[in-house]
Amino acid sequence: MNNEWINKRIKLAHTPTPISKLENISNKVKKNIYIKRDDLTGLELSGNKVRKLEYSLYEAIQNNADVVITCGAVQSNHARATATACRMLGLTPHLVLRGVKPELYKGNLLLDKILDCKIDYLSDTEFLDINKILVHLKEEYMGKGINAYIIPVGASNGVGNFGYWNAYNEILTQEKELGIKFSSMITTVGSGGTFSGLNLGNIFNGNLHKIVGYSIGGSKEYFEKICLKIMRDTIDLISNDKVSISFNSNMITSIEENYQGDGYAIPYKEEIETIKMLAKLEGIILDPVYTGKCFHGLLTDINLGKYENDNNILFIHTGGHFGIESFSNLF
Ligand SMILES: *Cc1c(COP(=O)(O)O)cnc(C)c1O
Repeated sequence: MNNEWINKRIKLAHTPTPISKLENISNKVKKNIYIKRDDLTGLELSGNKVRKLEYSLYEAIQNNADVVITCGAVQSNHARATATACRMLGLTPHLVLRGVKPELYKGNLLLDKILDCKIDYLSDTEFLDINKILVHLKEEYMGKGINAYIIPVGASNGVGNFGYWNAYNEILTQEKELGIKFSSMITTVGSGGTFSGLNLGNIFNGNLHKIVGYSIGGSKEYFEKICLKIMRDTIDLISNDKVSISFNSNMITSIEENYQGDGYAIPYKEEIETIKMLAKLEGIILDPVYTGKCFHGLLTDINLGKYENDNNILFIHTGGHFGIESFSNLF
């Protein structure tokens, strides 16, 4: 099923992103593993967030926004992609980041600076109130006659979910072109929107795939709750008096929590080894915060026999390149 919402976007990402087979890894683990290069959605825009921003920023412009406020960690890929997209569209980006202002800007934050974002830095404790802080900022802008639009963390909300619903449709088309049927799709779970969007696409196309999300910081229970909430928000958007859509928790396929290590942005040794192995065998670089944990989880679970019935597995590379430099001591 498609819906009118799927077209309510501004095209920003360089799509369709390529799918190729990881020949050497596939030989090694005796399983066909393919990769979808969503790290190639752009350069400054690169990664998964731009797909969601196509929808969030469409709505921002519909709402006549001048300023876009969003948040994340100090090396947030999402904040950098938002800042870039805002500049492309003539909107002013205002970032609220968890962390301290560094002496030397690098990685994503350096790009944020070059893009001339307004940046506020919050401590971990202050950041607990982030939603209130964002609303307060918006009100301050309103007081000055400026219309601000808030994008929540990771653009993972009802509107943002259309990004990976749309990506799911893109994969269906690519399956036909390539003559391959993927049994499962694998993604990282950070704020939940990528996993949720893929699940929505899957549900509305008759559950053709198993969607597996690997948590990079947070329990299975925690993320199931978040994903179900934002999926329901998407369903509410597409429901009207003619269509009412029922929805229950059995509809999300699977979240794995065993490979998050000690939490968000805390990499571990086995993960780093997996990143180095993929680089050496395939010439593809993963990041230590997100994709490294996910891919490490996938390979380990394949070895444990958890993918016994899967022939063709599609791993989605969600990006993260600009965050790698912060972990140079680990390589
Ligand atoms: C944000 C991010 C993710 C997680 O995606 P969510 O939709 O937030 O769950 C994965 N990989 C990278 C590189 C990211 O920046």
